[in-house]
Amino acid sequence: LIANRGEIACRVAATARRMGIRTVAVYSDADAGSKHVAVCDEAVWIGPAAAKESYLRGEKIIEVAKATGAQAIHPGYGFLSENAEFAEACEKAGLVFIGPPGSSMRAMGSKSAAKQLMEGAKVPLVPGYHGDNQEPEFLRQQADGIGYPVLLKASAGGGGKGMRVVERSEDFVAALGSCKREAISSFGDDKVLVEKYLQRPRHIEIQVFADKLGNCVYLHERDCSVQRRHQKVLEEAPAPGMPADRRAAMGEAAVNAARAVGYVGAGTVEFIANQDGSFYFMEMNTRLQVEHPVTEMITGTDLVEWQLRVAFGEPLPKKQHELGIHGHAIEARIYAENPEKGFLPSIGTLRHMDTPDAVNFELGGVAGVEPAAVRIDSGVREGDAISPFYDPMIAKLIVWGTDRTQALARLSQALADFQIVGLATNIAFLKRLVDGEAFSTADLDTGLIERNGATLFPPSKAAPAGALALAAVALIEGEKRLSAGASANAADPWGQAQGWRLNGDYRRVLSFGDEHAAGLPGGAYQVGVVYHPQGWELDVNGVKQPLTVSGHAGATLSVRLGEQSMHGAVRRDGDLFHVFSNGEHHMLAYNDPMAHAGELEAAGGRLTAPMPGKVVAVLVEAGQEVKKGDPLVIMEAMKMEHTIAAPSSGLVEEVLYAVGDQV
Ligand code: ADP
Ligand code: ADP
Ligand code: MG
Repeated sequence: LIANRGEIACRVAATARRMGIRTVAVYSDADAGSKHVAVCDEAVWIGPAAAKESYLRGEKIIEVAKATGAQAIHPGYGFLSENAEFAEACEKAGLVFIGPPGSSMRAMGSKSAAKQLMEGAKVPLVPGYHGDNQEPEFLRQQADGIGYPVLLKASAGGGGKGMRVVERSEDFVAALGSCKREAISSFGDDKVLVEKYLQRPRHIEIQVFADKLGNCVYLHERDCSVQRRHQKVLEEAPAPGMPADRRAAMGEAAVNAARAVGYVGAGTVEFIANQDGSFYFMEMNTRLQVEHPVTEMITGTDLVEWQLRVAFGEPLPKKQHELGIHGHAIEARIYAENPEKGFLPSIGTLRHMDTPDAVNFELGGVAGVEPAAVRIDSGVREGDAISPFYDPMIAKLIVWGTDRTQALARLSQALADFQIVGLATNIAFLKRLVDGEAFSTADLDTGLIERNGATLFPPSKAAPAGALALAAVALIEGEKRLSAGASANAADPWGQAQGWRLNGDYRRVLSFGDEHAAGLPGGAYQVGVVYHPQGWELDVNGVKQPLTVSGHAGATLSVRLGEQSMHGAVRRDGDLFHVFSNGEHHMLAYNDPMAHAGELEAAGGRLTAPMPGKVVAVLVEAGQEVKKGDPLVIMEAMKMEHTIAAPSSGLVEEVLYAVGDQV
């Protein structure tokens, strides 16, 4: 039974199928038609969409496992994967939990306790205090002794939450208070630890694996330094610039850490490293990690297969000296989010998803055979929705190359080929990140994204003439096709959209908008189209050029504008034209002169939620005067607060929603 959803559930099912193991999926209301349900042999409904009422219901999941005759439970990551009580309840019910014993999870579950344990196992630690004394004044003295800046961390924390950087002794007590408040509300435990805050550190983690027979190996490192809000964005293996002796030292430290807690299965020991290479234990994640594929690709292993074998008592498939490193792999997490708006998650339907050609990936590549150049792990298909209930990950794009340079080139290319229509994604941002100087020269540290904000978030540019031409061609070709389909008689001149006119040529102006165009005269790009008997002429930005369409297959267009040849795909989503060309994605809103007549008045007093969520505050009441831009309602969705402001000045007539309402 796979006690998870999405990408990781599909990933586990793929290996199980290859090994001839039957799989049972569980699903919530939101996932009834989802990919993970389709790829498993059997699927059982476990509750409503909210994770608390479905994927986090341990007893229900165990009940389903027993009813379906499952022998083992794979928890994936997130949800119940690091829940010691759940692991123990599985064992008690006679089910094999595919993961470490509950005792190992408990030992590593508290960052403070884990550090105490690691101290005993001679694993290097970041200088800091991780004891029980939580007196503010005492902790401040500890911080003074460590030297500023220091980092306060919730001992029970995770997912980048519950951390505060403190720059000066004077600020310590206030920061401690706010850190403890976040810790208690997010993790139900306000214990914190204090650490030296390293400058320009790298996040380097070691994949470890242990079996039930006392063997434990490391499968080398992953560099996950490229982060936003302390969460990983790009991950690669091996870590650039890692000397063999340090790799061995970190690997052995990680194995010691795992042995110290009686570890079994797949685990990751996270280290924070200085630029000079010195490294310190940070925490251990007692599960399979999101970024595990990069390790699989450089070591030629299938870590899920290893997990299944180990869970059933087999020895590790390989010994330490048999685990080499072959080539270089990089993973990019493709998220439904808006990097320009503080990485705000975006939800909606994947109207169109074209992924780069995945060069067939055989899980657990055969020795001597090169791994795939491109691998895509995804839990969604075209037409599926990214809902507000779960993690907004769309896919993981993993590339392999004989060296980092080749892997980088493949990643850049694959990102250019990734076409998604229907919701905002981080693809363009990832491409800038991957092509940028800092990442391509491996000048890595956890502040890379912040430091390179200027190049990673360039001001919006005017749509290039080529993109406008492609959009215009898609539009007029579309009209031609429509009219050809609509008219019963193909020769009927009244039913055609060829632009034929009795006297002289027909000229029309197409108007497209985007955020940049808002500043242009007329607030839009104007593309003039002249229909000559011998073909079209296009007028983009005042330059008139003949236009010929040399190829048109599905959404893919090849056109020639004057001297310039252009190639790209145009996907239409309502009035929005998505132009994918030159590795760029331009969204052009067609201002259809007919479509929106009369809509303006209706828009008057309407407020729109940026995404489904809960109203957490109503700031106005009936009868109140408001000015344009005044905050009216605050809602919470996907762990973030969104303020709904007045679209115009006026009087509040009635408030239709109250705190707690789902909108
Ligand atoms: P990692 O260390 O691998 O980045 P974190 O420790 O940040 O992982 O968080 C735990 C993992 O659980 C994350 O990778 C997160 O994406 C994953 N996760 C969280 N929510 C979900 C979900 N709804 N479905 C699947 N995975 C999830
Ligand atoms: P989480 O459980 O949220 O994953 P971690 O302890 O693994 O928490 O830390 C998450 C991230 O915070 C790290 O990957 C790193 O970027 C940053 N970080 C953690 N500890 C330090 C430190 N002592 N100095 C600088 N950055 C740190
Ligand atoms: Mg971590």
